[in-house]
Amino acid sequence: MRKSHVALFGMLAAGVAMLPGLRKKSLHPGGPPAARSWRMRITSHETFSHDSIDSLGYDWSRIADPAMAPKFPLKVYLPQSTGDIVKIVQEAKTLGEKLAVRSKGHSSNDLVLTEGGSVVVTEKLNRIVAVDRERMTATVQSGAISAEVDDYLATMGLGLPIIGDHNHITVGGFASVGGISPASHRFGLFIDNIESFEYVNWDGDVLNCSRTENAADFWRVLAGTGQHGIMSTLTLKLIEIDKYGTILENEQTRCTNVDDFVAVSSSYINDPGDALYERGVWIDFQLPRRRLTVGQFSAYKATPASRLATLRGRLAYGYLHRIGYLAGRLPPGLDRTVKYIGTAGVIFSPKYATIKNIEFFTDKILDSTVGDPTRMLIVLAPLERYEELFRESFALMVDYRERTGCFTFVSVYVKSINSEYLSQGTDRTRFCELMFYMGINQKRMTPEVLDEVVSDFDDLCIRHGGFRYMHSKTVTDARRDILDPNVHYRK
Ligand SMILES: Cc1cc2nc3c(=O)[nH]c(=O)nc-3n(C[C@H](O)[C@H](O)[C@H](O)COP(=O)(O)OP(=O)(O)OC[C@H]3O[C@@H](n4cnc5c(N)ncnc54)[C@H](O)[C@@H]3O)c2cc1C
Repeated sequence: MRKSHVALFGMLAAGVAMLPGLRKKSLHPGGPPAARSWRMRITSHETFSHDSIDSLGYDWSRIADPAMAPKFPLKVYLPQSTGDIVKIVQEAKTLGEKLAVRSKGHSSNDLVLTEGGSVVVTEKLNRIVAVDRERMTATVQSGAISAEVDDYLATMGLGLPIIGDHNHITVGGFASVGGISPASHRFGLFIDNIESFEYVNWDGDVLNCSRTENAADFWRVLAGTGQHGIMSTLTLKLIEIDKYGTILENEQTRCTNVDDFVAVSSSYINDPGDALYERGVWIDFQLPRRRLTVGQFSAYKATPASRLATLRGRLAYGYLHRIGYLAGRLPPGLDRTVKYIGTAGVIFSPKYATIKNIEFFTDKILDSTVGDPTRMLIVLAPLERYEELFRESFALMVDYRERTGCFTFVSVYVKSINSEYLSQGTDRTRFCELMFYMGINQKRMTPEVLDEVVSDFDDLCIRHGGFRYMHSKTVTDARRDILDPNVHYRK
């Protein structure tokens, strides 16, 4: 590490108090005090809000292409109840309008945009309706933010088994794509943990769905990317858990060689053993004179919560979070360096961590709006294809970088998933997630190059019998019917 970076590390370690006037007010005043202070520290996009009218013209693709032209809707509906949704759907039907459904716009596959059209925004459909301790379920409106629901549950010693690593993702948005976390090898997708839901179909009928009631609709609407109607309320399975108080020990393996990383991650993904949470990441930077590659796999296991462990976890994470917090507030140039240091924080993650820190790890450290623009492309494939798929898809991205210069860094986040939904009625429930997270060189990443990358990636996914995670960009042709796991449930 260069000297200036060491000095910067020192400055960051001294904390945000060094930069008066930079603190922002929390957008989320709810939740218990510990949760509140934890959440207000940073978000992974400090430089824009997706709750503004301006944001209605964009989805998460703006992070990859900040110059993209907005696609503003003409009409915006803001329902607060199921009755409101029925009225909206009936009005749209009478007028012959097609409705788009949008929660917070974290998807980047043109799912929530409708230029000149009508959009239903679930922002105000955000109540926690009931928590049933006996049945271990929570019923919430679909626009509720999953992190806020989880914080409310935390006050009762309860929590959601699966939650996204970003603190603005909504329950309805997560339920409409799938939902993956470092606990997915135990609990599956978020949608595997949905007990039932109420939705309004495009005729304006209100339907209740579960594995036993309207079962065909249940499977079809989940991960349905808003195509089959509008979910109004969802009943979610809960577990007893203390996410802020439980400290887990990070069994961490680091590698600098991609073959070693594939072997290590493959063994953990195939056999998680007693790991309660697990994730791996491989990062490949193209520096001016050389290529820097580094990877790590973290398997988080139970540990006695000794005082020392608590202290170490808190100190180390507080430090990393400050790096993320500062990254969005520094002068241009310096912010990019900090982002790379934040990336180092992903690789050199602390020995002890609370469950909450594990769940929100990358979000607290990397600000997507700082430094290079970034894009995600994600594949969900049968577990046995993991090693081959990793090698081929990683080689594909590096090849694009070398030939076209479209990517700056190429990173891959990997997880294991045990999912009833993805099994599609077979006994094959075990899958892997490969999330490619790439730095974009805007001059070189033309729309044509992007289409080619996505097309090649999708072909590769099909060759390995995988699915695409449909919130990230996919092809739009007939191949989409093979790539989208939801299509199976439409038959
Ligand atoms: C920084 C970041 C971190 C992320 N981390 C994770 C992660 O850890 N794990 C993971 O699995 N994913 C993750 N994602 C992806 C995220 O889960 C998806 O983008 C998801 O779509 C949720 O985002 P949203 O609530 O903003 O939904 P939107 O993008 O607004 O909507 C997504 C889809 O859901 C539909 N929809 C929304 N609400 C309803 C409703 N009430 N009824 C019917 N359809 C509806 C929309 O039409 C659209 O098709 C992340 C994304 C970002 C940008």
